Amino acid sequence: MRFAPSPTGLLHIGGARTALFNWLVARNTGGTFVLRLEDTDRERSTAESEAQIYRAMEWLGLDWDEGPYRQSERDEVYADAVERLKASGAVYASWETDADMDAQRQAAREDKRAPVVRGRRDWTDADLARFRDEGRVPVWRFGVDVGGRTVIDDFVRGEVAFEHAAIEDFVVARSDGTPTYNLAAAVDDHAMGITHAIRGEDHLSNTPKQMMVIRALGGTPPEYAHVPMILGPDKKRLSKRHGAASVEELRDQGYVRDAVINALALLGWSYDDKTTRFTVDELVERFTVARISRSPAVFDLKKLDHINGRYLRTLSDQEFGDALVEWLRHDGFFTRHGDGTEDLVRRTVPSVKRKMTRLNEYETLAGWLFRDLEMQPDAWAVLEGDVKHAIQVVGGGLGRLDALPDWTQDAIKDVLLDQLHIMGSNARDFLEPQRIAITGSTVSTGIYESLALLGRDESLRRYRATMGRLAELWNA
Ligand code: GLU
Repeated sequence: MRFAPSPTGLLHIGGARTALFNWLVARNTGGTFVLRLEDTDRERSTAESEAQIYRAMEWLGLDWDEGPYRQSERDEVYADAVERLKASGAVYASWETDADMDAQRQAAREDKRAPVVRGRRDWTDADLARFRDEGRVPVWRFGVDVGGRTVIDDFVRGEVAFEHAAIEDFVVARSDGTPTYNLAAAVDDHAMGITHAIRGEDHLSNTPKQMMVIRALGGTPPEYAHVPMILGPDKKRLSKRHGAASVEELRDQGYVRDAVINALALLGWSYDDKTTRFTVDELVERFTVARISRSPAVFDLKKLDHINGRYLRTLSDQEFGDALVEWLRHDGFFTRHGDGTEDLVRRTVPSVKRKMTRLNEYETLAGWLFRDLEMQPDAWAVLEGDVKHAIQVVGGGLGRLDALPDWTQDAIKDVLLDQLHIMGSNARDFLEPQRIAITGSTVSTGIYESLALLGRDESLRRYRATMGRLAELWNA
């Protein structure tokens, strides 16, 4: 099995899915998982794009057994293969100019034939001498056996036959000597002893060409599984527009590894008609290429939210705390709020766990605990809407809490509920202003938990600050 990403700068969703499928089969069958970087595009392949691939693979836990190989470091291997293909007559020098080939394609289209090009192989010595005088350098094309056909016995798509008449004599080496993508990929699959290749369906038309090259080199092509395309919820090809371009972005958005793996596995694969929940170990055990679908898969962040939330809720408080702390560290939370706050973060876990779908929601839910009271405009608007009422209920809450001897969540709840009854208010109208008074926000952990977490002194201080602002407004 191998994963052969082109460093497009990011390990995108489709690439991650391909990597996962190859890895699962390797782990499930005891095979060898080879990582090969198809980094011949010098502009897009940078040290950073390569590092991003490693980071994403590492975060996903997709370890490889062999490699990484870099195509950019294998010029000699490709040059040597091209020499062998020349020697056996599988490839030939094509002296045509680009304009010649365009004319050939155009003529074929006009005749309603496939626009495939073939170079002339019957130049006279005089022609060749003239080309050399003109300084022309040939490209090397694979001489496709036009009467034949290549059949891919694809794991997913069954037999897919390609008539050679529709396959052009593709270039294997450019005039500057550099190998083309199809040559390099085929040479590598052969040289690396690849037996199975799972890759995107967009490579299907490359496959017969790569098979021809491998056979011409005396090898046996790998067995292929071409996995279906990934679409967004609008059924258009998945792209940045759909909200998540890369694995790293998913991580930054607070999705956790196991949920991402679970969701990636379901992109074109299923175990049965109903199971949607898999641990990584279960996937390793149950994944088979036979159950990869032919129809396009849909990647939907809403579905991922669901899987992520579901996964987070299965964690124990300890595990949830570990995942949260790790994510917050990655996000820079402790740089902003101080390392000493890790304890407080862990103490909030029972209050936030049920309310979170993604780890990046933590700041909204609990960030208020780690900074001074900052009244959010929308929250202040709620109090401002009925200042008299706000003063009554916030003042009422403050009076009771100030007199409370033991500051526990239960005791806090008892006095606030009692006060609510005394005032004859409904729960929301009474409790919402309490929340706003200490958090400055309309969204937070539960009010009793919040007060307990914040502690007596700080809670009362915040109540008084809010009361002060309300009084100012009332007197103005
Ligand atoms: N480098 C190709 C890509 O990123 C993958 C080729 C392959 O798996 O054969 O699409």
